Amino acid sequence: MTELIHATGLRKSFGAGPVLDGIDFAVESGSVTAVIGPSGSGKTTLLRSLNALDLPDAGVIRVADETVDFGGAYSKADLARYRSQSGFVFQNHNLFPHKTVIENVVEGPIVVQKRPADEARADARRLLESVGLGDRGDAYPSELSGGQQQRVGIVRAVALKPKVLLLDEPTSALDPELVGEVLRVIKDLAAEGWTMVVVTHEIEFARQVSDQVLFIDGGVIVERGAPTAVIDHPQHERTTAFLRRLT
Ligand code: ADP
Repeated sequence: MTELIHATGLRKSFGAGPVLDGIDFAVESGSVTAVIGPSGSGKTTLLRSLNALDLPDAGVIRVADETVDFGGAYSKADLARYRSQSGFVFQNHNLFPHKTVIENVVEGPIVVQKRPADEARADARRLLESVGLGDRGDAYPSELSGGQQQRVGIVRAVALKPKVLLLDEPTSALDPELVGEVLRVIKDLAAEGWTMVVVTHEIEFARQVSDQVLFIDGGVIVERGAPTAVIDHPQHERTTAFLRRLT
């Protein structure tokens, strides 16, 4: 196994206290990492740092082929190359409301990656098919259910063919009956061998799909390991208390 992500010494504050307070972790190629922890503990900031949506004050992160020393000097071009290594799936999918599903999916491949439009569209149709939305390419996001919109959000990230997918609470904005269809898509991507980092409150999903769980509290990784360890046999009182509150 090779490490696809390697992060050391991550620190970030938004003014008040630290949000990331010295975080080190690694992600193996082809593995799924679930990031769990209380609200406000820094999970989303950590994930956004991996795509340079938030910029840490200090720390070094390598994602696939690109490394940024956030405490040192880096250019916009460095950040763009770093960002292109990963695809980000937002909690609220962030689809363009005035573009059709297919237009949403091909925007990045055509405009950013300069791929041929025909090829990008064929790819998009195939990917939409694979998540059960083969017939919805010409619909507008508002014509879809929340679960369908989020499946498009995932396809949009996948269409960029990044080395790693970053998913920020991908089901937390959904009605409970729509959660399953989105988790199914994520499980399928895991089975295909995608490397993923998922911030999630779905502990049962984390147990089933992840290879590594990071439990974050107060901007530090309190506990990490296989789900059978962290979720089923937590060693720290803070992990136990967090998991107890969820059940
Ligand atoms: P989590 O994902 O674990 O809920 P976040 O990473 O979203 O936690 O947030 C951690 C802390 O950082 C919270 O207190 C939040 O209010 C703060 N925070 C996050 N983003 C910003 C921002 N852009 N500006 C100011 N504070 C922020």
